Amino acid sequence: IDKGAPNSQAIWQDLDRRHHLHPFTDTKALNAKGARIITRGEGCHIVDAEGKKLLDGMAGLWCVNLGYNRKELVEAAANQLSALPYYNNFFSTANTPSVELAARIAEVTPEGLDHIFFANSGSEAIDTAMRMARFFWQAAGKPEKTWLIARDNSYHGSTIAGTSLGGQKEMRKQGGPLLGDIAHVPQPYWYGEGDGMSEDEFGLARARLIEEKILELGPDRVAAVFGEPIQGAGGVIVPPKTYWPEVERICRKYDVLLVADEVICGFGRTGSWFGCQTFGFTPDMMTMAKGMSSGYLPISAVAVGTRVADMLIENGGEFYHGFTYSGHPASAAVAVATLDIMQNEKLVERVRDDIGPYFQNGLRTLLDHPLVGRIDGVGLIAGIALVKSKAPKTFFDSAAKAGMRVRDHSIANGFMMRAVGDRMALSPPLVISHEEVDDLVRIVRQALDLTL
Ligand code: PLP
Repeated sequence: IDKGAPNSQAIWQDLDRRHHLHPFTDTKALNAKGARIITRGEGCHIVDAEGKKLLDGMAGLWCVNLGYNRKELVEAAANQLSALPYYNNFFSTANTPSVELAARIAEVTPEGLDHIFFANSGSEAIDTAMRMARFFWQAAGKPEKTWLIARDNSYHGSTIAGTSLGGQKEMRKQGGPLLGDIAHVPQPYWYGEGDGMSEDEFGLARARLIEEKILELGPDRVAAVFGEPIQGAGGVIVPPKTYWPEVERICRKYDVLLVADEVICGFGRTGSWFGCQTFGFTPDMMTMAKGMSSGYLPISAVAVGTRVADMLIENGGEFYHGFTYSGHPASAAVAVATLDIMQNEKLVERVRDDIGPYFQNGLRTLLDHPLVGRIDGVGLIAGIALVKSKAPKTFFDSAAKAGMRVRDHSIANGFMMRAVGDRMALSPPLVISHEEVDDLVRIVRQALDLTL
């Protein structure tokens, strides 16, 4: 392949069609139009094989938090690959980048979440936390506590474990049977499902459905409740502020572990190091990935709180669990360099006090648009709910494909965002500038106008 050939997009598209099966893609539909081939990244922009530049409003897949082209991250990987490209953490050895990373993560997690188990993807972190939650109760002498509770429309990855725990209806129909002893409760989506209640009342009501589910299953049989602080892939569902503290109270009352899936919210996205801090609760375990290495190399982790860690260490014996690349040295070195940049550039504070509010306020200027029913978000994550009419509130028929139309107009005009049904998802890099926020608000308005 002549990689620099003019119109290399067509060459790549042809090979792609013939040999490449894409994740979460209808291949027949993709083959009819061909993939957009992305070849480079610069700051907060990606560049395709035709040289077209797009402002990346999704930070890749909610992960490239420091933007593209960060030399420090590239050098951290290169230096580590030269010094020690691989050694494992199994049995009785350890590599230094993963030890350093564990200590550095423990510094930024909420108090008590000080023990770190590494994996490579969010899905593996979730699988690990699911096994750990059940293993904790085995070690505690209560092996009958096996049930896991999650929410409808949640996303926890696409392995069998992640699919079973997740609440994505269409996804759950494929490739089963799924794992047992997993129950789902309705999501805390006030704008879509909370008519007739205040947001605060609705948050409490949805939390109490978890209590009902625990009582229905029997508290002695429930191991853990899992939830994303903000449901990202489900369309940026931001719960009312009453929700998480009440879920935490319920979990404590019935002695059920609480696991926060911080794969998207972690590492500054919501203006705190972790989403649970923004929403005022402390989980027993947290999963994390994505922003951990700014997406430069795959790495994920489970942060384990004192209660679970002490029990597993004292009574668990060997936990027969781990991955060849748990704590891969190059990925860990990039994650350490990511933390260095986040701390040196005070990016969490920047999201909380400066660019996050600027982005949220900018987006809210779109509320006057006839298609925009509501904007949810905090920090640098937001969801725009499209409506057919505001009064009375009427959603589009799914056949109208309103979200996809807005997304396609936006991409055509230089801004990459995602449609989850008729909710537009935005999650730009944490280093996005004020001017780039202005650009994205302008392009989103233009895309909405073109969809009218
Ligand atoms: N959990 C959450 C909340 C996610 O958003 C994702 C991915 O988007 C996952 C888990 C799965 O992560 P991965 O795709 O790295 O397996």
